[in-house]
Amino acid sequence: MKKLVLLSIVSFFTINSSQIHAWSQPIHKRIVIDALSFMNSSYASEDEKLAYAFYVKAAGSEENAGEILGQAAYDVDEFKDTRLGEWWRPYERAPIGGLGGFIVQYTSYWHFLNMTRGEDAHGNDHGGYDYRYHTKDPRWWANIDTYAKYYLYNLQLHEKDFNSTEAHYRQGSHSTIGKHYEDFQNIAWQPIDNLAKYWYDQFILDPSLEMIGFTLHAVGDVAQPHHVWVSSSNSHAGWEGWIEDYYDEYQLSAHEKVSKIIGEYDTEWPVRDILTHTAGIAYEHPEVLYNRDTKTRVAASNILIPHAVASAVTVLTKGALYFYD
Ligand SMILES: [Zn+2]
Repeated sequence: MKKLVLLSIVSFFTINSSQIHAWSQPIHKRIVIDALSFMNSSYASEDEKLAYAFYVKAAGSEENAGEILGQAAYDVDEFKDTRLGEWWRPYERAPIGGLGGFIVQYTSYWHFLNMTRGEDAHGNDHGGYDYRYHTKDPRWWANIDTYAKYYLYNLQLHEKDFNSTEAHYRQGSHSTIGKHYEDFQNIAWQPIDNLAKYWYDQFILDPSLEMIGFTLHAVGDVAQPHHVWVSSSNSHAGWEGWIEDYYDEYQLSAHEKVSKIIGEYDTEWPVRDILTHTAGIAYEHPEVLYNRDTKTRVAASNILIPHAVASAVTVLTKGALYFYD
């Protein structure tokens, strides 16, 4: 019976394989490549063109720069830096002793920014993933957050990961392992804007395309309504698959669309504010959690993808200007 339950959880995770990642990884990469292309377009500002030259020079060509930055943004979902377990159960980075790594890595639990509530248990203005505050799928049988809770019940974050990964993403907030990371169902994960700030600061300390590329992963995630409404369910997979399938057909990242909203952003803002602005836009589009029709998806994606690209342009320009100033 136990085996059967485990297997059904496994197959559930499998069926919903892409549910916990925000956007599919190739879309993370596309957003970055399209941001770079925008920065060399007729819509680009002088600062954006300067930043474009900065990255292209570092990489040798636009294609290389896009490849390295985009791949870094892609890779963040696969960081092997987050293990859950207990004395009675081996620590693992992904379900079934890591075998489920193609399904979800627990590292993705650092990839949420909860816009449905204010201050979290750590003192951040908005928290990250927290099972207690996830948005429920009205179809109870499709609620992958609940399946994950059963699978991970009472498991804690590995102390080494608390002292490295969590410490990196703490960013001035307060944490104790016993209070915040003891039982999965009560864990208050750090929010993804803290992750972005950490990698951006690494870039400032020791500039590399990879470091700012890691930051750009966060830009993609906060533009995804499921990540600011905190849900691994609610047609997360269907929505992402749809974006991947129709990204080109609806020209979601067209320069003209990005140019219309890029004025909302300011490179003087701290990285976390850039992300919070985009998260606020995503928060205004919960309809993609409940409606699967084409009309809803076309309308929402035409707002969300240009904002993701514009945020990427803003972060890239901010990073380059730091070194020109
Ligand atoms: Zn992610």
